[in-house]
Amino acid sequence: MSFDLYQQVILDHNRKPRNCGALEGHTHTCHGHNPLCGDDYTVYLKVTNEQIEQVTFEGNGCAISKASASMMTQSLQGKNIDQAQALFEEFHQMVLGNLDAESTETQLGKLKIFQGVRAFPSRVKCASLSWHAMHTALTQKEDEVSTE
Ligand code: ZN
Repeated sequence: MSFDLYQQVILDHNRKPRNCGALEGHTHTCHGHNPLCGDDYTVYLKVTNEQIEQVTFEGNGCAISKASASMMTQSLQGKNIDQAQALFEEFHQMVLGNLDAESTETQLGKLKIFQGVRAFPSRVKCASLSWHAMHTALTQKEDEVSTE
């Protein structure tokens, strides 16, 4: 699966980000910043009984970071916290190049298009920023994360 081949999906999410905007009544939030690229996002989650009811994000950055945040919000809808953390782990290991999503059975689905960023080390942080923010929001309840 080549990165170029799927760039239109990324461009589409960049143009029309899904679940974009602050979330009223959120239970978890974290602000993420990638100083290398200037990506800057806040992720909001509304969790009831360990179940993620709603996920949104707001902020700005490059196309990869925005598409990644947008697709993350779609992927997390309806998952529970354990499933969300497991998905974070798979996504993170994939973009780092430690997990081959083509030959391994994962829950990544269409998130596999981000596997291509492993060939571009400077883009790994763009793709994983919102995921780190989500992970931090759910785990430590801190409200700030930086890729540095
Ligand atoms: Zn970026």
